[in-house]
Amino acid sequence: MPLPFPLKRRGLLFVLSSPSGAGKSTIARMLLTQDDKIDISVSATTRPPRPGEVHGKDYFFVSDEEFDRMVEAGEFLEWAHVFGRRYGTLNAEVRKTLAAGRDVLLDIDWQGTQQLKQVDPDIVRVFILPPSMEELERRLRSRGTDSDDVIQGRMARAAAEISHWAEYDYVLINNDVEKCRELVDNILKAERLKATRRTGLTDFVRGLIG
Ligand code: 5GP
Repeated sequence: MPLPFPLKRRGLLFVLSSPSGAGKSTIARMLLTQDDKIDISVSATTRPPRPGEVHGKDYFFVSDEEFDRMVEAGEFLEWAHVFGRRYGTLNAEVRKTLAAGRDVLLDIDWQGTQQLKQVDPDIVRVFILPPSMEELERRLRSRGTDSDDVIQGRMARAAAEISHWAEYDYVLINNDVEKCRELVDNILKAERLKATRRTGLTDFVRGLIG
């Protein structure tokens, strides 16, 4: 008899948080290209696009009025103010991915993570720390996309973001982006094997032992 693989399981909400510049976006991108069972949830934001960013791929870039309307209509699973702009996870994005039997990667801050944990206690939370604040500032500057003021704001905000590290299930130090990606991948693979999310196990074991 053919084995019923892959076994049915509930999709994961896999949260990655870090101060900007700690390597989270790079790791998220690597993970998405190497793992075909996870999609990123594209958030809505009121911040303007950076050069090269694409509407619907990096974010849904919306006006303040549109964001207000979306909040009012209950379109967000969570939303928060970050750097004076608003960012939010769309219910529809997450639902679409889970319905397709896939996992959801969420690149959101600590405020969003706290809210999401209230909505769904089963989320997996990973926090990525920079090896030092000097290295964080160097990485922020090397992007060359933000002004000095913005970088200072991001450094101040980084300390605040880092202070929430203990609210996460896993905390990694990004000394080496490839090693860090591998660790994130290991966490994802292990979390997929959690018995409580593998709804197909009951039938499988019934077939084994009756
Ligand atoms: P950036 O403007 O650099 O793309 O993102 C700034 C910060 O906003 C990042 O730390 C990112 O994780 C966070 N962020 C992006 N989308 C969301 C979201 O939908 N909800 C929340 N709470 N934070 C978000």
